[in-house]
Amino acid sequence: MSQLFDRVALIGLGLIGSSLCHIMHREGLAGHIAGFARSAATRARAMELGLVESIHETAAAAVGDADLVILCSPVGTYGEVAREIGPALKPGAILTDVGSVKAAVVRDVGPHVPKGVHFIPGHPVAGTEQSGPESGFAELFGNRWCILTPLPDADPAAVSRLEGFWRACGSNVETMTPEHHDLVLAITSHLPHLIAYNIVATAADLEEVTGSEVIKYSAGGFRDFTRIAASDPTMWRDVFLNNREAVLEMLGRFSEDLSALQRAIRWGDGEALHLLFARAREIRRGIIAAGQDTASPDFGRDKTHKG
Ligand code: NAP
Repeated sequence: MSQLFDRVALIGLGLIGSSLCHIMHREGLAGHIAGFARSAATRARAMELGLVESIHETAAAAVGDADLVILCSPVGTYGEVAREIGPALKPGAILTDVGSVKAAVVRDVGPHVPKGVHFIPGHPVAGTEQSGPESGFAELFGNRWCILTPLPDADPAAVSRLEGFWRACGSNVETMTPEHHDLVLAITSHLPHLIAYNIVATAADLEEVTGSEVIKYSAGGFRDFTRIAASDPTMWRDVFLNNREAVLEMLGRFSEDLSALQRAIRWGDGEALHLLFARAREIRRGIIAAGQDTASPDFGRDKTHKG
Protein backbone atom coordinates (compact mmCIF):
# COMPACT_ATOMS: atom_id res chain seq x y z
CA MET A 1 0.00 0.00 0.00
CA SER A 2 1.28 3.50 -0.68
CA GLN A 3 1.42 6.59 1.49
CA LEU A 4 -1.97 8.32 1.74
CA PHE A 5 -1.07 11.24 4.03
CA ASP A 6 2.21 13.08 4.58
CA ARG A 7 1.54 13.73 8.24
CA VAL A 8 -1.07 12.16 10.53
CA ALA A 9 -1.71 13.37 14.10
CA LEU A 10 -3.34 11.19 16.74
CA ILE A 11 -4.79 12.64 19.93
CA GLY A 12 -5.01 9.71 22.34
CA LEU A 13 -2.72 6.67 22.11
CA GLY A 14 -4.70 3.88 23.74
CA LEU A 15 -6.16 0.76 22.13
CA ILE A 16 -7.53 2.51 19.06
CA GLY A 17 -4.75 5.09 18.66
CA SER A 18 -1.95 2.54 19.01
CA SER A 19 -3.72 0.08 16.67
CA LEU A 20 -3.90 2.86 14.07
CA CYS A 21 -0.15 3.44 14.49
CA HIS A 22 0.57 -0.26 13.92
CA ILE A 23 -1.53 -0.56 10.78
CA MET A 24 -0.28 2.77 9.36
CA HIS A 25 3.31 1.63 9.85
CA ARG A 26 2.67 -1.83 8.44
CA GLU A 27 0.97 -0.48 5.32
CA GLY A 28 3.13 2.66 4.97
CA LEU A 29 0.05 4.90 5.00
CA ALA A 30 1.63 7.96 6.66
CA GLY A 31 4.89 9.80 6.05
CA HIS A 32 5.01 10.84 9.71
CA ILE A 33 2.81 10.07 12.72
CA ALA A 34 2.67 12.77 15.41
CA GLY A 35 1.08 11.90 18.74
CA PHE A 36 -0.28 13.36 21.92
CA ALA A 37 -1.76 11.68 25.02
CA ARG A 38 -2.86 13.12 28.33
CA SER A 39 -0.17 11.66 30.60
CA ALA A 40 3.60 11.95 30.32
CA ALA A 41 3.79 8.18 31.01
CA THR A 42 1.71 7.30 27.93
CA ARG A 43 3.62 9.80 25.80
CA ALA A 44 6.94 8.26 26.85
CA ARG A 45 5.66 4.72 26.33
CA ALA A 46 4.41 5.59 22.84
CA MET A 47 7.91 6.70 21.86
CA GLU A 48 9.52 3.61 23.45
CA LEU A 49 7.17 1.35 21.53
CA GLY A 50 7.88 3.22 18.30
CA LEU A 51 4.20 4.00 17.81
CA VAL A 52 4.81 7.56 16.64
CA GLU A 53 7.63 9.44 14.95
CA SER A 54 7.13 12.48 17.18
CA ILE A 55 5.39 13.08 20.50
CA HIS A 56 4.20 16.49 21.62
CA GLU A 57 3.55 18.26 24.90
CA THR A 58 0.18 19.63 23.77
CA ALA A 59 -2.55 18.54 21.37
CA ALA A 60 -2.22 21.81 19.45
CA ALA A 61 1.49 21.17 18.84
CA ALA A 62 0.76 17.62 17.63
CA VAL A 63 -1.74 18.69 14.93
CA GLY A 64 0.44 21.45 13.42
CA ASP A 65 0.96 20.75 9.70
CA ALA A 66 -0.99 17.45 9.84
CA ASP A 67 -3.09 16.48 6.79
CA LEU A 68 -5.15 14.03 8.83
CA VAL A 69 -6.01 14.49 12.51
CA ILE A 70 -7.73 11.65 14.36
CA LEU A 71 -9.22 12.13 17.83
CA CYS A 72 -8.69 8.85 19.71
CA SER A 73 -9.38 9.90 23.29
CA PRO A 74 -12.63 9.27 25.25
CA VAL A 75 -15.67 11.00 23.71
CA GLY A 76 -16.11 13.28 26.75
CA THR A 77 -12.77 14.97 26.00
CA TYR A 78 -13.49 15.89 22.37
CA GLY A 79 -15.06 19.33 22.94
CA GLU A 80 -12.11 20.55 24.97
CA VAL A 81 -9.54 19.00 22.63
CA ALA A 82 -11.27 20.51 19.57
CA ARG A 83 -11.33 23.93 21.21
CA GLU A 84 -7.60 23.68 21.81
CA ILE A 85 -6.53 22.35 18.41
CA GLY A 86 -9.00 24.35 16.26
CA PRO A 87 -6.69 27.34 15.64
CA ALA A 88 -3.71 25.05 14.92
CA LEU A 89 -5.39 22.95 12.22
CA LYS A 90 -3.94 23.30 8.72
CA PRO A 91 -6.33 24.53 6.01
CA GLY A 92 -7.38 21.57 3.84
CA ALA A 93 -6.71 19.05 6.64
CA ILE A 94 -9.20 16.29 7.46
CA LEU A 95 -10.30 16.17 11.09
CA THR A 96 -11.95 12.92 12.14
CA ASP A 97 -12.47 10.83 15.26
CA VAL A 98 -13.08 7.24 16.35
CA GLY A 99 -15.68 7.91 19.04
CA SER A 100 -18.36 5.35 19.81
CA VAL A 101 -21.15 7.97 19.60
CA LYS A 102 -21.61 10.42 16.78
CA ALA A 103 -24.32 13.08 17.29
CA ALA A 104 -22.63 14.34 20.48
CA VAL A 105 -19.31 14.54 18.63
CA VAL A 106 -20.86 16.71 15.92
CA ARG A 107 -22.34 18.88 18.68
CA ASP A 108 -19.10 19.20 20.68
CA VAL A 109 -16.46 19.35 17.94
CA GLY A 110 -18.33 21.06 15.09
CA PRO A 111 -18.29 24.61 16.53
CA HIS A 112 -14.48 24.56 16.86
CA VAL A 113 -13.65 23.50 13.30
CA PRO A 114 -12.26 26.40 11.27
CA LYS A 115 -13.39 27.06 7.69
CA GLY A 116 -11.36 25.09 5.17
CA VAL A 117 -10.86 22.09 7.50
CA HIS A 118 -12.85 18.97 6.57
CA PHE A 119 -14.58 17.57 9.66
CA ILE A 120 -15.78 14.01 9.01
CA PRO A 121 -16.80 12.07 12.14
CA GLY A 122 -16.09 8.32 12.15
CA HIS A 123 -16.34 5.18 14.24
CA PRO A 124 -14.42 1.95 13.62
CA VAL A 125 -16.72 -0.76 14.96
CA ALA A 126 -13.81 -2.79 16.27
CA GLY A 127 -12.37 -3.15 19.72
CA THR A 128 -11.39 -5.31 22.63
CA GLU A 129 -11.75 -4.90 26.39
CA GLN A 130 -8.06 -3.89 26.63
CA SER A 131 -6.85 -0.31 26.81
CA GLY A 132 -3.64 1.68 26.81
CA PRO A 133 -0.73 2.15 24.37
CA GLU A 134 0.44 -1.47 24.64
CA SER A 135 -2.91 -3.01 23.77
CA GLY A 136 -3.01 -2.09 20.08
CA PHE A 137 -2.40 -4.41 17.13
CA ALA A 138 -2.40 -3.92 13.37
CA GLU A 139 -5.18 -6.42 12.64
CA LEU A 140 -7.82 -4.76 14.86
CA PHE A 141 -9.68 -3.12 11.99
CA GLY A 142 -9.38 -5.99 9.50
CA ASN A 143 -12.75 -7.04 8.03
CA ARG A 144 -14.57 -4.80 10.52
CA TRP A 145 -16.88 -1.93 9.59
CA CYS A 146 -15.92 1.68 9.90
CA ILE A 147 -18.92 4.03 9.91
CA LEU A 148 -18.45 7.59 8.68
CA THR A 149 -21.11 10.20 9.42
CA PRO A 150 -20.26 13.13 7.12
CA LEU A 151 -22.38 16.25 7.50
CA PRO A 152 -24.60 17.28 4.58
CA ASP A 153 -22.12 19.93 3.38
CA ALA A 154 -19.06 17.64 3.57
CA ASP A 155 -16.62 17.74 0.64
CA PRO A 156 -17.08 14.45 -1.30
CA ALA A 157 -13.37 14.34 -2.22
CA ALA A 158 -12.35 14.53 1.46
CA VAL A 159 -14.91 11.87 2.43
CA SER A 160 -13.63 9.58 -0.27
CA ARG A 161 -10.02 10.18 0.87
CA LEU A 162 -10.95 9.18 4.42
CA GLU A 163 -12.86 6.14 3.13
CA GLY A 164 -9.70 5.13 1.28
CA PHE A 165 -7.71 5.45 4.50
CA TRP A 166 -10.04 3.10 6.43
CA ARG A 167 -10.10 0.62 3.54
CA ALA A 168 -6.29 0.65 3.60
CA CYS A 169 -6.55 -0.21 7.33
CA GLY A 170 -8.52 -3.31 6.29
CA SER A 171 -12.02 -2.04 7.10
CA ASN A 172 -15.23 -1.97 5.14
CA VAL A 173 -16.74 1.50 5.09
CA GLU A 174 -20.36 2.62 5.42
CA THR A 175 -21.76 6.14 5.67
CA MET A 176 -24.91 7.16 7.55
CA THR A 177 -26.25 10.06 9.60
CA PRO A 178 -24.93 10.55 13.14
CA GLU A 179 -28.43 9.96 14.56
CA HIS A 180 -28.87 6.68 12.73
CA HIS A 181 -25.42 5.57 13.87
CA ASP A 182 -26.31 6.27 17.49
CA LEU A 183 -29.54 4.28 17.28
CA VAL A 184 -27.92 1.26 15.63
CA LEU A 185 -24.95 1.24 18.02
CA ALA A 186 -27.23 1.67 21.03
CA ILE A 187 -28.61 -1.82 20.42
CA THR A 188 -25.54 -3.53 18.94
CA SER A 189 -22.93 -2.19 21.34
CA HIS A 190 -24.08 0.16 24.08
CA LEU A 191 -26.94 -1.93 25.49
CA PRO A 192 -24.89 -5.17 25.52
CA HIS A 193 -22.23 -3.35 27.55
CA LEU A 194 -24.85 -2.01 29.95
CA ILE A 195 -26.32 -5.48 30.42
CA ALA A 196 -22.86 -6.94 30.98
CA TYR A 197 -21.96 -4.29 33.57
CA ASN A 198 -25.30 -4.89 35.28
CA ILE A 199 -25.18 -8.68 35.39
CA VAL A 200 -21.64 -8.60 36.74
CA ALA A 201 -22.73 -6.14 39.44
CA THR A 202 -25.72 -8.31 40.37
CA ALA A 203 -23.53 -11.42 40.55
CA ALA A 204 -20.93 -9.57 42.59
CA ASP A 205 -23.62 -8.81 45.16
CA LEU A 206 -24.64 -12.48 45.16
CA GLU A 207 -21.04 -13.45 45.68
CA GLU A 208 -21.53 -12.34 49.27
CA VAL A 209 -24.30 -14.92 49.59
CA THR A 210 -22.85 -17.81 47.63
CA GLY A 211 -19.21 -17.63 48.64
CA SER A 212 -16.90 -18.20 45.66
CA GLU A 213 -19.40 -20.10 43.51
CA VAL A 214 -20.09 -17.25 41.09
CA ILE A 215 -16.46 -17.32 40.03
CA LYS A 216 -16.01 -21.08 40.34
CA TYR A 217 -18.87 -21.88 37.97
CA SER A 218 -18.49 -18.81 35.75
CA ALA A 219 -17.77 -20.91 32.63
CA GLY A 220 -21.50 -21.58 32.51
CA GLY A 221 -21.94 -18.26 30.70
CA PHE A 222 -21.18 -15.54 33.23
CA ARG A 223 -17.53 -15.15 32.28
CA ASP A 224 -18.44 -14.09 28.74
CA PHE A 225 -20.25 -11.10 30.23
CA THR A 226 -17.26 -10.34 32.46
CA ARG A 227 -15.08 -9.96 29.36
CA ILE A 228 -17.32 -7.21 28.02
CA ALA A 229 -17.64 -5.68 31.49
CA ALA A 230 -13.84 -5.40 31.73
CA SER A 231 -13.93 -2.56 29.18
CA ASP A 232 -12.56 0.86 30.06
CA PRO A 233 -14.88 2.58 32.60
CA THR A 234 -14.09 6.13 31.41
CA MET A 235 -14.82 5.33 27.80
CA TRP A 236 -18.14 3.68 28.67
CA ARG A 237 -19.22 6.37 31.09
CA ASP A 238 -18.77 8.87 28.25
CA VAL A 239 -20.71 6.68 25.81
CA PHE A 240 -23.77 6.54 28.07
CA LEU A 241 -23.61 10.23 28.95
CA ASN A 242 -23.45 11.08 25.24
CA ASN A 243 -25.99 8.69 23.74
CA ARG A 244 -28.69 9.01 26.37
CA GLU A 245 -31.80 9.21 24.17
CA ALA A 246 -31.02 6.23 21.94
CA VAL A 247 -29.87 4.06 24.85
CA LEU A 248 -33.01 4.84 26.88
CA GLU A 249 -35.15 4.01 23.83
CA MET A 250 -33.45 0.63 23.40
CA LEU A 251 -33.47 -0.04 27.13
CA GLY A 252 -37.27 0.48 27.13
CA ARG A 253 -37.70 -2.10 24.38
CA PHE A 254 -35.31 -4.48 26.10
CA SER A 255 -37.20 -4.22 29.39
CA GLU A 256 -40.51 -4.98 27.64
CA ASP A 257 -39.03 -8.05 25.97
CA LEU A 258 -37.48 -9.17 29.24
CA SER A 259 -40.88 -8.91 30.93
CA ALA A 260 -42.37 -11.07 28.18
CA LEU A 261 -39.69 -13.69 28.85
CA GLN A 262 -40.35 -13.47 32.57
CA ARG A 263 -44.04 -14.06 31.90
CA ALA A 264 -43.31 -17.05 29.64
CA ILE A 265 -41.20 -18.63 32.38
CA ARG A 266 -43.83 -17.92 35.03
CA TRP A 267 -46.61 -19.51 32.93
CA GLY A 268 -44.50 -22.41 31.72
CA ASP A 269 -44.85 -21.26 28.10
CA GLY A 270 -42.13 -23.47 26.60
CA GLU A 271 -43.25 -22.72 23.06
CA ALA A 272 -42.65 -18.98 23.47
CA LEU A 273 -39.24 -19.61 25.03
CA HIS A 274 -38.20 -22.05 22.32
CA LEU A 275 -39.32 -19.71 19.55
CA LEU A 276 -37.29 -16.83 20.93
CA PHE A 277 -34.18 -18.91 21.61
CA ALA A 278 -34.31 -20.41 18.10
CA ARG A 279 -34.53 -16.92 16.57
CA ALA A 280 -31.54 -15.80 18.62
CA ARG A 281 -29.51 -18.78 17.45
CA GLU A 282 -30.18 -17.82 13.83
CA ILE A 283 -28.81 -14.33 14.50
CA ARG A 284 -25.61 -15.86 15.89
CA ARG A 285 -25.30 -17.97 12.72
CA GLY A 286 -25.77 -14.84 10.62
CA ILE A 287 -22.93 -13.06 12.45
CA ILE A 288 -20.60 -16.00 11.81
CA ALA A 289 -21.66 -16.21 8.15
CA ALA A 290 -20.88 -12.48 7.82
CA GLY A 291 -17.33 -13.12 9.11
CA GLN A 292 -17.86 -11.00 12.25
CA ASP A 293 -16.99 -13.87 14.65
CA THR A 294 -15.62 -17.39 14.70
CA ALA A 295 -17.74 -20.53 14.87
CA SER A 296 -15.18 -22.33 17.08
CA PRO A 297 -16.81 -23.93 20.10
CA ASP A 298 -16.59 -21.78 23.21
CA PHE A 299 -15.34 -18.80 21.15
CA GLY A 300 -12.17 -20.73 20.29
CA ARG A 301 -11.03 -21.02 23.90
CA ASP A 302 -8.69 -23.74 25.01
CA LYS A 303 -10.84 -26.80 25.82
CA THR A 304 -8.91 -27.43 29.05
CA HIS A 305 -10.45 -24.30 30.49
CA LYS A 306 -13.97 -25.27 29.63
CA GLY A 307 -16.42 -25.79 32.44
P1 NAP B 1 -7.94 3.91 25.82
O1 NAP B 1 -7.19 2.69 25.44
O2 NAP B 1 -8.43 4.05 27.21
O3 NAP B 1 -7.03 5.17 25.44
C1 NAP B 1 -7.47 6.49 25.60
C2 NAP B 1 -6.34 7.42 25.23
O4 NAP B 1 -6.82 8.78 25.29
C3 NAP B 1 -5.13 7.35 26.17
O5 NAP B 1 -3.96 7.48 25.41
C4 NAP B 1 -5.33 8.58 27.06
O6 NAP B 1 -4.13 9.09 27.55
C5 NAP B 1 -5.91 9.55 26.06
N1 NAP B 1 -6.61 10.67 26.68
C6 NAP B 1 -7.51 10.67 27.69
N2 NAP B 1 -7.92 11.92 27.95
C7 NAP B 1 -7.28 12.73 27.07
C8 NAP B 1 -7.25 14.11 26.83
N3 NAP B 1 -8.02 14.94 27.53
N4 NAP B 1 -6.44 14.60 25.85
C9 NAP B 1 -5.67 13.77 25.12
N5 NAP B 1 -5.64 12.43 25.31
C10 NAP B 1 -6.43 11.94 26.27
O7 NAP B 1 -9.23 4.12 24.89
P2 NAP B 1 -9.63 3.45 23.49
O8 NAP B 1 -10.26 2.13 23.75
O9 NAP B 1 -8.48 3.56 22.56
O10 NAP B 1 -10.81 4.43 23.07
C11 NAP B 1 -10.53 5.67 22.46
C12 NAP B 1 -11.75 6.13 21.68
O11 NAP B 1 -12.11 5.10 20.75
C13 NAP B 1 -12.98 6.41 22.52
O12 NAP B 1 -13.59 7.59 22.05
C14 NAP B 1 -13.90 5.23 22.23
O13 NAP B 1 -15.26 5.63 22.27
C15 NAP B 1 -13.48 4.82 20.84
N6 NAP B 1 -13.63 3.39 20.51
C16 NAP B 1 -13.24 2.43 21.40
C17 NAP B 1 -13.41 1.09 21.09
C18 NAP B 1 -13.00 0.00 22.06
O14 NAP B 1 -13.48 -1.13 21.95
N7 NAP B 1 -12.15 0.27 23.01
C19 NAP B 1 -13.94 0.73 19.84
C20 NAP B 1 -14.27 1.72 18.92
C21 NAP B 1 -14.12 3.06 19.27
P3 NAP B 1 -3.51 8.54 28.95
O15 NAP B 1 -3.07 7.12 28.67
O16 NAP B 1 -2.39 9.45 29.19
O17 NAP B 1 -4.61 8.61 29.96
